[in-house]
Amino acid sequence: MSLAEFALIERIRARSKGRDDIVLGIGDDAALLQPLAGHWLAVTADTLNSGVHFPPETQPADIGWKTLAVNLSDLAAMGATPAWGTLALSLPSAEAEWIDAFADGFFALADAHDWRLIGGDTTRGPLSLSVTAFGQVPQGQALRRDGAQVGDDIWVSGTLGDAAAALQRWQGGALSVTDPAADADDELLRQRLLRPTPRVRLGIALRGIATAAVDVSDGLLADLGHIAARSGVAAHVDAALVPCSTSAERVIGREAARQCALSGGDDYELCFTAPPACREALAEIAARLSLTVTCIGRVVHGTGVHCPSALARQGYAHFS
Ligand code: ADP
Ligand code: MG
Repeated sequence: MSLAEFALIERIRARSKGRDDIVLGIGDDAALLQPLAGHWLAVTADTLNSGVHFPPETQPADIGWKTLAVNLSDLAAMGATPAWGTLALSLPSAEAEWIDAFADGFFALADAHDWRLIGGDTTRGPLSLSVTAFGQVPQGQALRRDGAQVGDDIWVSGTLGDAAAALQRWQGGALSVTDPAADADDELLRQRLLRPTPRVRLGIALRGIATAAVDVSDGLLADLGHIAARSGVAAHVDAALVPCSTSAERVIGREAARQCALSGGDDYELCFTAPPACREALAEIAARLSLTVTCIGRVVHGTGVHCPSALARQGYAHFS
């Protein structure tokens, strides 16, 4: 069934819930919001284009999830609590089945974080999805990229390289993005690519602890490079400490998994710096959130990201 623009918007509006701080939601020329006193608004936007950011055959529910996940990941990296946002849709055609499936994935993640859709735009064109997301963070407590201090530990959450490993498997024809994989490890990697988990609760817990943070979307060494550059310091990473999943190691091999962990993208884990005095607090946070955090290196004087054991094998000297 093909929908007129109004019917399509109505179909999305019917799925979005309210919130006390939404004075006026979808349906007027602009939404009206009541931000929390004593807080800053964190604002981010990310676009996913078909064929560029996801394979064209990706299921609409998975596209819906990921469209929001990449934005919530940016809020997590700022230590912000997700609040509201807009959705700009460019669609080649307006099929009710597609919209409903997209909404299933999108609102599953939105509802899990009490994030509310408060407006957007709908146009006809190549498939492209763009979210602008707003979060709130107590004044002065945002996790920025420019606060890393010499002597800080460098940490990452979860495991890295799983999504890149899944993409390799897909590119090699060994994995389908539309059908579950028969092998449990392949399926885990596939889920990590299609349904990344934004580390929102970790970002909030890191307020007052992390000196700098970034979400890993372009690869660990590249994203850590942003912290180093903005903070005016160097990062020293021990490649052997970078956490890979056993699934990635088993499916693509240990060396390839390690390479994916260092330079693959689409992880949506957090990389952050914190003084060594915070190690115990971080262990408690990790236990409370049932999420591993791993110390992978140290902030030192200088510039760029140094990863000596990778240098021996893959030839990076200096990744800045
Ligand atoms: P206008 O022409 O004034 O920009 P539209 O007709 O584009 O308004 O949109 C009507 C209402 O529907 C607005 O409140 C807008 O924010 C909302 N809207 C449009 N597209 C979407 C979408 N994809 N998701 C959520 N809300 C949308
Ligand atoms: Mg208008």
